[in-house]
Amino acid sequence: MLGLPPALADLIHQLTRLPGIGPKAAERLALALIKWEPAEVASLGQALNDSVARVTDCPTCGCLSQDGELCDVCASEGRDASVLCVVEDALDAVAVERGGTYNGRYHILGGALSPMKGVLPEDLRVAELLERIQADGVTEVIVATNASPDGEATALYLKQELVELTAPGGAALRLTRLARGLPSGAQLDYADPATLQSALEHRTEL
Ligand SMILES: [Zn+2]
Repeated sequence: MLGLPPALADLIHQLTRLPGIGPKAAERLALALIKWEPAEVASLGQALNDSVARVTDCPTCGCLSQDGELCDVCASEGRDASVLCVVEDALDAVAVERGGTYNGRYHILGGALSPMKGVLPEDLRVAELLERIQADGVTEVIVATNASPDGEATALYLKQELVELTAPGGAALRLTRLARGLPSGAQLDYADPATLQSALEHRTEL
């Protein structure tokens, strides 16, 4: 039986470690890659190395950033620090940002609560969230976790944790949730910008 050359088999095996890439897709990608010019392969390798070496979490919000610096949103004077949009992952913030209308800041939880996967409150950046709410004089927290069972459970947990907090001046902190209209179970980073924008505009009290 004709097998694959070991070098190619190894490349395919490495590619299957990527999320969403099964054996068939890995084979197609590998066969395409080995036809690239050496210079193109080198720039792919360089981009990969650079990303691993330089991409960091924003020290304030946890969004993707570079070289340990603040992300563009946290660094911008024009963004409203009194509104925080809480999302599961950095790519969710990128998705909301793509809508182009949100002018507050973000807070990345780093996942959603999941008893099945062993993700507990202390595994998420909740303590950092509570700290920011007090320190930055936050008046509204938009809970934009995914519309999945884990995302909903996380939203309810955050409500419990935040409901007693007050905004500057003693008013209750406003807690909102993205409007329905996002497909149930949908991940934010797959939603189209218009749908996401509308979900944000029509957000409801949590
Ligand atoms: Zn940031």
